Amino acid sequence: MLVPLHLSPDGDSVGCALAVNMVCSRFGTQCQVVSADPPPEELSFLRGWEGIAPPKDCLGHFDVVLLMDCSSPARVGRSSELIDTRQSKVVVIDHHRTALRNGDLVWVDPEAAATAEMLFDWLKSADIPIDNDVATALYTGIATDTGFFAYPNTGAETLRRAAELVEAGAAPHLVYSRINEQRRPATLRLLARALDNMNITFCGKLAWTQVTQDEFAICRAGADDTEGIVNHLRSLAGVEVAAVFVETPVGQVKVSLRSRDNYDVSRLAEKMGGGGHSRAAGMTMEGPMCRARRLVLDEIGSTLCAEGEGSQCGEH
Ligand code: AMP
Ligand code: MN
Ligand code: MN
Repeated sequence: MLVPLHLSPDGDSVGCALAVNMVCSRFGTQCQVVSADPPPEELSFLRGWEGIAPPKDCLGHFDVVLLMDCSSPARVGRSSELIDTRQSKVVVIDHHRTALRNGDLVWVDPEAAATAEMLFDWLKSADIPIDNDVATALYTGIATDTGFFAYPNTGAETLRRAAELVEAGAAPHLVYSRINEQRRPATLRLLARALDNMNITFCGKLAWTQVTQDEFAICRAGADDTEGIVNHLRSLAGVEVAAVFVETPVGQVKVSLRSRDNYDVSRLAEKMGGGGHSRAAGMTMEGPMCRARRLVLDEIGSTLCAEGEGSQCGEH
């Protein structure tokens, strides 16, 4: 079985893949986790992290391809070259509202806070014992997708599942500190720069910033170091939408969108070729930066202003 991570893999993607990998090895089923992008260093405490291979190291034929936390080969980047739909069954387990329903077996539950919740429910229903390494991987998926139980997708059921995973051996303080308190100076340098370049428009409802390749070079930082910048922008009082534009080495622009309360950023992301959830979504657009930025800001601005006192803010 092949388990590809989605591009820019996060805790949910990595946690689910490693949990499946551990369960498979217990049953003697061969499983290869593959990632086109390097998996985040801060998740290296999860068992099996070092076995995540780049696509070029994965040869051979796979009976099953298991896509989790995403739903299309396009979302797994170069790992998609290993997927031959004539030879392999494709199974999809995802919780994105924007998920595609293509595959031999498709399970999409937009109500789930994380794909790790779905996997947890499935393992339980199949009476598969959850040891502390599997519990830690699943807990990590749930914790990271809920902002450590702070986002609106955190409900009583999410906390109950998390509690069961803690009983099974996950250690919340360790997961938190490994992910959030092992930062490199370069990450904070980039954050400082991004916040310094922050712009607030549309009556204070939209906050955005950008990170160019020059800034990566100055801070000696990489794409991984942009994680979390967008949440700082959303933390401003009155901000409804936060956007971060990141220039990639090939001149494309990766956009991260976050919102509060009313604004559904997944619809905007979907319209621009990406996807995600109502409060967290993203897309990758063609450059240059100024063009991508204008397209996105105009689009957000027109809806933000149409919704309220927009006509007074005089920013369009
Ligand atoms: P990010 O801002 O990269 O953390 O992404 C936020 C959410 O949007 C995550 O749930 C991603 O899976 C989703 N997302 C980001 N980029 C894309 C894309 N190009 N296509 C589909 N979903 C995306
Ligand atoms: Mn994800
Ligand atoms: Mn997820």
